Amino acid sequence: MTETSEFFNPELETLNREQIEELQIERLKNTIQHCLHSAFYKQRFKEAGLEPEDIKTLDDLRKIPFTTKQDLRDNYPFGLASIPLNECVRLHSSSGTTGNPTVILHSRKDLDEWANAVARCLWMVGCRPSDVFQNTSGYGMFTGGLGFQYGAEKLGMLTVPAAAGNTKRQLKFFTDFGTTVVHAIPSYATRIFEVMQANGIDPRHDTKLRTLVIGAEPHSEEQRRRIENMLGVKAYNSFGMSEMCGPGVAFECKEQNGMHIWEDYYIVEIVNPDTLEPVPDGEIGEMVLTTLNREAMPLLRYRTRDLTRILPGECPCGRHHKRIDRMKGRSDDMIVLRGVNIFPIQIEQVLMRYKELGSNYLITLQTNEVNDSMTVEVELSQTYTGGPDAQQALTKSITSNLHDEILLTPFVKLLQPGSLAQSEGKAVRVKDLRKVY
Ligand code: AMP
Ligand code: ZN
Repeated sequence: MTETSEFFNPELETLNREQIEELQIERLKNTIQHCLHSAFYKQRFKEAGLEPEDIKTLDDLRKIPFTTKQDLRDNYPFGLASIPLNECVRLHSSSGTTGNPTVILHSRKDLDEWANAVARCLWMVGCRPSDVFQNTSGYGMFTGGLGFQYGAEKLGMLTVPAAAGNTKRQLKFFTDFGTTVVHAIPSYATRIFEVMQANGIDPRHDTKLRTLVIGAEPHSEEQRRRIENMLGVKAYNSFGMSEMCGPGVAFECKEQNGMHIWEDYYIVEIVNPDTLEPVPDGEIGEMVLTTLNREAMPLLRYRTRDLTRILPGECPCGRHHKRIDRMKGRSDDMIVLRGVNIFPIQIEQVLMRYKELGSNYLITLQTNEVNDSMTVEVELSQTYTGGPDAQQALTKSITSNLHDEILLTPFVKLLQPGSLAQSEGKAVRVKDLRKVY
């Protein structure tokens, strides 16, 4: 491709609907044959009385049972491997820490394709080899680190793998290296601006920042516009999940109106999370994804639990790959806060270890000026008699144990017994006040 081309993979990005579907059915058939090398899918197909030949059209996909995160946990660590382990070159594991984590395996080819998908996304929003790309994601199991690293390198940008935190150092890199493109989770983008202000840096005049890639956690259109205005950049929404490699699954084009999902890599279905029946385009439901070119660990009809919808109509950018709307929430109780996956039960487990505490608690998630935050309010036990000093020490201990469990530091507030509202039905444990929808 040339710098002036709008497309990184012109032949794949400009396929029309008919061509996309032709490619999908061919790749789906191959994927199914390949899946049957894994102990898990072999068993699944046997149980469902399914033969690979039963899948002849894209509609036949619906004959295949769903795959869930629980399946990944139950078959931890390598039960879904479709190639021998000695042909795998990397694994990523989810950030959630309840029960067995999930493991995602990658072959060399998987990593190349993943880098290609990310490069394609970055190119789509105007990144070119002359850009300087700084990644503020953690480099480790979180796929936002290595995922963007290899994608940006594949595109040919000068990359600055700054990794997470140390905002002052990030700012020095911006100015010293002439960073033009930054990847940051939305809550960190706001933090960057705050530190710029504190240090008298004007992003418009003192840096060359032009493009921001934000993703990994829910954020609203308003939040995006605020970030754009603060930093003087264009900010593009990026959707990814470890089970589908990581970033590079769906990405906004320059129209900033929905994220194109790369349909040569994935089949997207939107289903009603209760009936599991498909919903028409334009209606919100749970996104289900099937991988089409994964070697090490293909996934069929994976329930992402993310709620979104297909945006009907054509995108003026010339790509016919479907667009999904900004994420609307999740159909399970997993919280995604600042890119970290947390299940409320993890918090409960920590609280319930304290005999000083009662059993009522409430987790509140909020969007503050700077960051999304979590507050955990918990009632003291009826028999607790500790004074202010003891309560302060107790708060400190709970905060530190929660941090060890969920990898984020929540605000902890102790309440008198009976202070939290008693709900009529199921206890409401999580109040999500973040500005997302
Ligand atoms: P992980 O596998 O740890 O990267 O987490 C993946 C989850 O993060 C997804 O299933 C979504 O719930 C959430 N997520 C990722 N990207 C976005 C995004 N752009 N907007 C909203 N939520 C996102
Ligand atoms: Zn487009």
